[in-house]
This record gives sequence, C-alpha cells and structure tokens, in this order.
Amino acid sequence: MSNRVIMAAGNWKMNKTPKEAVEFVNELKKLAAGAKSEVVVGVPFVCIPGVAEAAKGSNIKVAAQNVHWEASGAYTGEVSCGMLKELGVDYVIIGHSERREYFGETDEMINKKAKAILASGMIPIICCGESLTQREQGVTAEHVRYQVKIALLGLSAEDVSRLVIAYEPIWAIGTGKTATDEQAEEVCAIIRQLVAELYGNDVAEKTRILYGGSVNAQNAKSLFSMPNIDGGLVGGASLKLNAFEKIIKHYE
Ligand code: PEP
Repeated sequence: MSNRVIMAAGNWKMNKTPKEAVEFVNELKKLAAGAKSEVVVGVPFVCIPGVAEAAKGSNIKVAAQNVHWEASGAYTGEVSCGMLKELGVDYVIIGHSERREYFGETDEMINKKAKAILASGMIPIICCGESLTQREQGVTAEHVRYQVKIALLGLSAEDVSRLVIAYEPIWAIGTGKTATDEQAEEVCAIIRQLVAELYGNDVAEKTRILYGGSVNAQNAKSLFSMPNIDGGLVGGASLKLNAFEKIIKHYE
C-alpha cells in the first residue's frame, strides 16, 4: 500500500453557470465532509470566485481547467496563474485532450504551464493519453511517455513529487467506454516507471497518477484499488451529486 491519498477530481468542462456551481458545491460539501479521498472540483473560470467562497472551511479544493504561462500581458482572453492563485485555486488541469485537439495545446505549452503553476504555488494536474488509432497501432506507451517527458522537462524532483498526472485515453473520454482496470493500470504503471527513471523511486512513489475516461459510480472502486491508480479525473459523473459522492466514497 502506498501513502498516496486517493484524489477524486471533477472536470466540469464548459458546464454550470456561476449560480449553479455554488448551489452544487454547497450540496457537495455536505456529502463530501469527512471523506477519505481528496476532493477537487475543476470549474469554469467564471465559477471560481463563488465556488472558492462556498468551499471555504470544507474539504473541497478548487481547480481551474486551464491557465496561461505568462504572468501578464497582451494575451486576449487568457488568465494568469497570479489571477487564479488570488482567488484561492489549488490545482490547474492542463493538457486535457480537448484543449490539445480544439485549442492547439502542445506538449511544450503544457510544460510552460506546469512550470508557471508550480512557481505560483499551485499544483498542475497534467493530462496525457493516446487516441484509439495510437492504441491500435501499439504506440500507447511511447506516446504517453513522450507527452509526460516533455511536460516535466526542467521541473525539480520536489515539484514532480507534488504534481498530479492524469492518464486519460482519448477513446474513453465521454464515450462511456471505460478502460479496463488492467488497461488503466498498465499505462499508469508505465508513467510511474518513467517518473522513476527521470527522478528516482522516492519521487515516483509520491507522484499521484489518476485515471480518467468514463469513471462512474460503478467502476471507481475497482479502478482506484489498482496499485498505480491514485484516483480519477472525472468528467460527466462529476456533474451529478449522487454519482460524484459515490466516486468520492468509493472505499465504502
Ligand atoms: C474528462 O473530461 O477528463 C473525462 C474523463 O470525462 P468523462 O469522465 O466524461 O469521460
């Protein structure tokens, strides 16, 4: 058994208005009180002030879904780490496959974002994962290792022991097609092995590696009990109180 605390991180994507978000978190904090998992909600930028306020004094941590790596400047439509930090954001999800696909996010950009997030005292949740074609071509391990290696370039061992990596096979995101426990474990173990190669076993033992891709109330328990899976990054099921509560309390 590792000492890593299991994380249940919701990724709301572009869902819920600021008012709906606060209502949801006010209910969630009652359901999540005393949970053994670390609970995180990844909310749209405009929901952050209300959610951070609502989550105060609870065990719910707040994540943003993106950030720019520069501190300030002429970057219309972007948000900086300093802005998020001031609002009480704890985590920032970066490199989600939707951002890579629809907004042209590259591994190099994800590396810059990771550095900026860590420098500002927040923690990145770095997403990686292969497409269905890549899985069928047998290049999953190479692809994921490449993505993670670039994302971590130049980071210190201390930083890497604190950050979170989310393995999210693209074919499993929002499709209802969950990876099997073994498929998810295999790639999470490959990622931990890479971290060990780059930073040593002690760091690799601390880095949390999540699985994401159609995690739900039914499959969370067995996925999260795999030795190299330290919880989940959850899309659709994190928008429903009952389902997310069950994922948070998967151990019951
Ligand atoms: C996600 O968006 O990160 C995700 C895993 O979505 P879903 O749980 O809906 O597949």
